[in-house]
Amino acid sequence: MPELILRLALPSPLRRLFDYRAPLGATAASLQPGMRVRVPFGRREVIGILVEASETSEVPADKLRPALQLLDEQTPMPPALFKLCLWTAQYYQHSLGDTLSWALPVLLRQGEPAEARQERFWHVADGARLDDPRLTRAPRQREALRTLAQHAHGVAHSLLSKLQLNRDSLELLLEKRLVSVEVRRSAPMKRAGSWLAQPELPLNPEQRAACEAIRSSFGGFQAFLLAGVTGSGKTEVYLQLIRQALETGKQVLVLIPEINLGPQTLARFEQRFNARIALLHSNVNDRERLDAWLAARDGEADIVIGTRSALFTPLQRPGLIIVDEEHDASYKQQEGLRYHARDLALVRARQDQVPIVLGSATPSLESLHNAHAGRYGLLRLTQRAGGAKPPRFLRLDIKSRPLDAGISAPLQQAITQTLEAGQQVLVFLNRRGFAPTLLCHDCGWISACPRCDARMTVHQRSNELRCHHCGHSERRPANCPKCGLVDLRPLGTGTERAEERLEILFPQYPVLRIDRDSTSRKGAMDTLFSTIQRGEPCLLVGTQMLAKGHHFPRVTLVAILDADGGLFSADFRASERMAQLIVQVAGRAGRAEEPGMVIIQTHLADHPLLVQLTEQGYFAFAEQALSERRAAGLPPFAHLALLRGEAHKPGQAEDFLDQACSEAEHLLEELQLSGIELLGPVPAPMERRAGRYRAQLLLQANARAPLHRLMSVWLPRLEQLPGGRAVRWSLDVDPIDLF
Ligand code: ADP
Ligand code: ZN
Ligand code: ZN
Repeated sequence: MPELILRLALPSPLRRLFDYRAPLGATAASLQPGMRVRVPFGRREVIGILVEASETSEVPADKLRPALQLLDEQTPMPPALFKLCLWTAQYYQHSLGDTLSWALPVLLRQGEPAEARQERFWHVADGARLDDPRLTRAPRQREALRTLAQHAHGVAHSLLSKLQLNRDSLELLLEKRLVSVEVRRSAPMKRAGSWLAQPELPLNPEQRAACEAIRSSFGGFQAFLLAGVTGSGKTEVYLQLIRQALETGKQVLVLIPEINLGPQTLARFEQRFNARIALLHSNVNDRERLDAWLAARDGEADIVIGTRSALFTPLQRPGLIIVDEEHDASYKQQEGLRYHARDLALVRARQDQVPIVLGSATPSLESLHNAHAGRYGLLRLTQRAGGAKPPRFLRLDIKSRPLDAGISAPLQQAITQTLEAGQQVLVFLNRRGFAPTLLCHDCGWISACPRCDARMTVHQRSNELRCHHCGHSERRPANCPKCGLVDLRPLGTGTERAEERLEILFPQYPVLRIDRDSTSRKGAMDTLFSTIQRGEPCLLVGTQMLAKGHHFPRVTLVAILDADGGLFSADFRASERMAQLIVQVAGRAGRAEEPGMVIIQTHLADHPLLVQLTEQGYFAFAEQALSERRAAGLPPFAHLALLRGEAHKPGQAEDFLDQACSEAEHLLEELQLSGIELLGPVPAPMERRAGRYRAQLLLQANARAPLHRLMSVWLPRLEQLPGGRAVRWSLDVDPIDLF
């Protein structure tokens, strides 16, 4: 009989599969792709995923090692998910084993059985009487029995304390056989008659048109861009579409950006539906994640809501995919498998033959381009749903005006007026810490990071200098490390400094700082938000965390301290990002009765992009930005891939990229590919980071197909290059940061 060979994807960066002898007893008929197999790998044991079984191998028979154990009797991965992972690995030129590791819940990768957790359920025993005479002198047991009797389906062990059920009493009741315990899967919730737990809002005509367009494509693939200004009721459109999908017996996948997990969004879903909702975000532990994943796979969750990686959640009956805030950069993973969850969601929708809705007030230029090209249906919501007026914009020229902690005199006046009128003010500044640099006034020393080509930020509260690029931190020096004198001055303004200054300027009003430092403690965010919701006049100062998803109905003035970074930057996406930030921050203002005002401090008050944005709105800006991208041959009119390298010694990464570049040049000729430019290698914009020297090579192509043809041959060769050993390198397909 021919031997059975297992071809496995292993958690390794190498872009190849690994052959093993099948373990004893395994038969070809029992094997399915996606099954997990424990195998020896070097001196370790790892868990691989079966890709295919074969009777032959190119590995010589005496080198083939036997697999140790099959972990599954049934594949835990439905074929659609396996296919999506194959596609992903191919498209991003990433090892399949590593791709599967990113896509699967941690516990599955570690070999945990692919079964939902068993739980103990407490019931009143058959025939037990609440007035059992043995309980006359045991009031606590009697009480417990009575409580339990109110729950016909039993009570899960983990919920006992929530219902004030005493464990000891239950144990005593168990001895008396008045209660029983059953071990089973967590109960699939019984649904009441209707999916709605709360009535729906009557839609306005634009919302209705959007819902109807999407609804009419149920049952097949079609992509929609739902472009609706902040507060236009996009979420209401999602909710009504979800209800309609549920009514047809389908499941819905909703992706949300990382930071948007304000309890506000989730609460709206939970309040609206009488449905089983599985949550997959960063605060969910590994066990909960696996349970949610299994529930979705087995059709026991109706709605799956999660961040980036939730894209890989299998669904038994997929009906609709929603990507909220589709422009958000957190959909792109910036390490390991550098996938874009929005882009993969489109691939998945096509594969599952379901409609997909990409929603945003500030759509990415990529998505707008796709809409213009007719690939996506474009649905616009132009009015704020609650009837609130859009904010007014004011470009405040600060050339040669004195700034006090970044705040000009006219802005200070506007803040005073707003607070005196009993309203709230939001001050936006995309830089945390006290000041971006510490400078010695006597000798010119600056607080450079010892490990990066970057400056360390002054953090006043913790009295530290911290590098925001590598995490290095040290005590803030009292004397200049170079000349020993004491005139060290913080240069520039971060949120801490703005907060400190605003407290002095407006002593009667509370100042609330919202950034990663002030909200890192659990619950800190909730406390801040409940203060804001109370509605008394106050100042909020913060970073882009303020731009996301939250409603601040009492904020009527938004101040953007510095818009210039986005207009100067070398990164071609900087202006798009700046415009999105400004519009998103502005969208927080005046959502209720009072109209909002947005003041943008800038040295470039006449910059065409800024003028367009503030006078004609985001879509006019986007058209202008798109035509600039077209003229410059940049995405979405070109396709990019970025090969990055970093090494301990200067020059090493560039040497490797040089070899990679000549290899690519050969291949272009050999494969007769055209329309691909190789730009570089060049040192990265920040050449040294965390003690490593970095360089990059950019591939720019006018069509996707030849670029991918090149990469599929090029990457396996790069793995063989001798220079690659000392260099940590990675490929980023469709990079969003060219750093
Ligand atoms: P978006 O998601 O576009 O920012 P939301 O869905 O959060 O907008 O809606 C903004 C506000 O308008 C919410 O308070 C919401 O309850 C309300 N709203 C949405 N649609 C309607 C409607 N059709 N009628 C009345 N109020 C609505
Ligand atoms: Zn000095
Ligand atoms: Zn650093």
